[in-house]
Amino acid sequence: MSNKSYDDRDGVIWMNGQMIEWRKANAHILSHALHYAGAVFEGERVYDGTVFKLREHTQRLLDSAKIMGYELPYTLQQLMDATEATVRAQKIVDGYVRPIAWRGSGEMMGIASYKNPIHVAIATWEWPSYFDPTAKAEGIKLTLSRWHRPAPDTAPVHSKTSSLYAICTMIKHEVEKKGFHDGLMLDWRGHVAESTGANFFMVKNGGLHTPTPDCFLDGITRRTVMDLAHLRQLPVQERTILPEELKTADEIFLTGTAAEVTPVGQIDDMKFKVGPITKMLAEDFAKE
Ligand code: PMP
Repeated sequence: MSNKSYDDRDGVIWMNGQMIEWRKANAHILSHALHYAGAVFEGERVYDGTVFKLREHTQRLLDSAKIMGYELPYTLQQLMDATEATVRAQKIVDGYVRPIAWRGSGEMMGIASYKNPIHVAIATWEWPSYFDPTAKAEGIKLTLSRWHRPAPDTAPVHSKTSSLYAICTMIKHEVEKKGFHDGLMLDWRGHVAESTGANFFMVKNGGLHTPTPDCFLDGITRRTVMDLAHLRQLPVQERTILPEELKTADEIFLTGTAAEVTPVGQIDDMKFKVGPITKMLAEDFAKE
């Protein structure tokens, strides 16, 4: 894979209904979203040339925009077709897809934006693994983050909006400097929530426990893994998880489009084994 800057690559990006030369897929400096956030996006995986759960991700993109108060000017089917066309044009076999929609530059440059156009773009590139494979095999290292997921009346917590990722970038910078792979966020009440880009699961006495997604994303991978657990007849509980309980977990793992099923080996000074249930679900997920 090329280490070239993401704006300096060969190929095409689908933008507003057309394939654009990669280096020309640009937005204006006075784009509303650059100043006031509120873009919505998706992260999708291509396995063997096919986009995993394309319909679910595309529907979430449409729903995320609606939560943010705008409608995408394309239908579900048009966006799914555009995604597949972009993957084909880029000849991606195993890769990542990044659809994004945002309020563009228009007649309005204050906080309000209802007269400005909505833009949509879809880019895709080869991308084998999010966490490095050795760390993924041994279990990644997390540290509790000083930032919390906000209350549902404080932020649009069920939208995959760029605004919610401002704290995630700050967390990643802080924790990587300290030698951790990611930060574990509590929510506004002090309950365990999620990492900066993945959902949280704990294995205890042969069952799965995962926080109720009432103030963070109910991930598509999370739901897939819960279905896989049911097929294995493992009990799954969605409930409040307190940070004090973490030390009693038999295994811990994260789920996400980029993370897939990633075992956690450490949270601050607590150590965890990469156990049989995590391994089994990671294998089941790889077969999906
Ligand atoms: N939480 C956050 C903050 C994320 O960025 C992601 C990745 N989209 C997830 C959870 C997991 O969601 P999914 O399984 O749908 O990728």
